[in-house]
Amino acid sequence: MPKKIVILGGGTAGWMAANLFVKKWSEEQVTVTLIESPDIGIIGVGEGSTPTLKRFFELIDVAEPEWMPRCNATYKVNIRFSGWSPDSGLENYSHPFLSQVDTLTQKSFVVNCMTRRLGLDVHTRPDNFFINGVLAQQEKGPRTPENFPFVMDYGFHFDSGLLGEFLCELAVSRGVTHVQTKVVDVEQNADGDIAALLSDRGNRFDGDFFVDCTGFAGVLMQKALGVEFRDYKSNLFNDSAIVMPTPITKSFPAETVSYAMSNGWCWKIPLTNRYGNGYVYSSDFISDDDAETELRTFLGTLDSGEETRHLKMRVGQLDKHWQNNCLGLGLSQGFIEPLEATALLLVQISIELFIAEYEQGDFSAKHRGEFNQKVHARFEWVRDYIVAHYKLNTRQDSKYWQANRENMELSDSLRHLLDVWYRRGDLGKELQRQNIESHFGTLSWHCLLSGYGAFPPLAQDQPDKGDHYKENDIEHLLTGCALNFRSHEENLADLVGQDS
Ligand SMILES: Cc1cc2nc3c(=O)[nH]c(=O)nc-3n(C[C@H](O)[C@H](O)[C@H](O)COP(=O)(O)OP(=O)(O)OC[C@H]3O[C@@H](n4cnc5c(N)ncnc54)[C@H](O)[C@@H]3O)c2cc1C
Repeated sequence: MPKKIVILGGGTAGWMAANLFVKKWSEEQVTVTLIESPDIGIIGVGEGSTPTLKRFFELIDVAEPEWMPRCNATYKVNIRFSGWSPDSGLENYSHPFLSQVDTLTQKSFVVNCMTRRLGLDVHTRPDNFFINGVLAQQEKGPRTPENFPFVMDYGFHFDSGLLGEFLCELAVSRGVTHVQTKVVDVEQNADGDIAALLSDRGNRFDGDFFVDCTGFAGVLMQKALGVEFRDYKSNLFNDSAIVMPTPITKSFPAETVSYAMSNGWCWKIPLTNRYGNGYVYSSDFISDDDAETELRTFLGTLDSGEETRHLKMRVGQLDKHWQNNCLGLGLSQGFIEPLEATALLLVQISIELFIAEYEQGDFSAKHRGEFNQKVHARFEWVRDYIVAHYKLNTRQDSKYWQANRENMELSDSLRHLLDVWYRRGDLGKELQRQNIESHFGTLSWHCLLSGYGAFPPLAQDQPDKGDHYKENDIEHLLTGCALNFRSHEENLADLVGQDS
């Protein structure tokens, strides 16, 4: 008999899981049912991704022209951070997604960062060392002609409601059973396993395995199974967000911009039909009304009458992501605030790890402990990378930024990483020593630390040589490479009408 998997929740997490399960397993191995309540609805935010989403679409065999125009999607080659560290002397810097071309320049970047840590004046602006950073500066898209010899990596921006609809249609066409009803009770066996979900219309949905994708409600993992939630409030202060669209401009770079605000930060994400904007802040430092006024002033929409949405965020992770015969996914398993748009990345990694461990254990819970340990570590590593953005800020305009800077609630792992950096040690070796297998590798850490200007003062005597950016003529190399790319606008126009 095939294993019966029941997913509760039809937000992006639920539909990503449904699509990956039916793609991976045949109907003889596994049947998938997804239950969602249209009355409750989805959170409907989450418009930025990492390159892992590109891999997701490759895994489920969906080409960009099929899904991007339907989801008002655009390309994303980096995140630009504006105003986070005035002392760095850089008004903004970017954290580009890495591509194959960057193997030619990354060593120079790391060497220059080391040289600058010795007090010598060399080039360390991360955007200028990586092809995606240069493409963003030139408002180009990441699509290459077929004869370009390097593989490009990039992410996307998208309308999360439309993406959910697209993934729902696809999953149903591939054999997923879709049920729209509200689950009001959970039936459990004596050993604590979930036996069935009961709906408000008196229906019973039994299964061998259940996936909790109910968002912040945490219906199965937290409420039914009592799994504890570890919150990150002591080192990530933000707990609220206000979301508001603004009209799209004629052209725009393929990037998310993250602007530091008085008590948090604001994302600006271009979709083909609008900008999505959102102020993420800490309610301990600013009221919802003041945050809304600040956001509207910033966006120039004080008198626009455009409605805003206020959201509360639960930041942290479950103590266990797989408990009994149930997996937590998406916001129900945890959330580390959207600064690096890592939520769907963690969803996908969790699904992939689950598929591997469940299969290796012959569709049993044999590898549950191993899975929990791996997912837990992934969350912690992403958390540390985000915390570093707050810890290293050099803003002086509010108590919020000062409290972030002075916050000593850091993990041992992060303390060691920062210590190695300031002692001019090798960050790559330290990541290896700590066995950190994260989306944020050595180069991401170098982008962050150099972008923040986390360097000692310049030495008095400068030898005026040893700048690998100049000596290896990286500007020439990357501007030459960029000649192969067309504008972001043209890349998007190319997608329309090609969805056959
Ligand atoms: C302010 C903010 C900004 C974000 N930005 C990003 C970003 O840029 N990038 C990114 O990757 N992520 C981002 N995220 C996270 C992202 O929104 C989510 O990870 C993503 O939308 C997946 O959500 P979900 O599917 O887990 O939950 P939801 O979208 O909330 O879906 C929950 C589902 O469960 C169903 N449900 C709940 N209870 C029941 C019940 N009793 N019976 C039946 N159905 C039920 C609901 O109907 C719904 O279908 C952001 C989140 C916030 C709060």
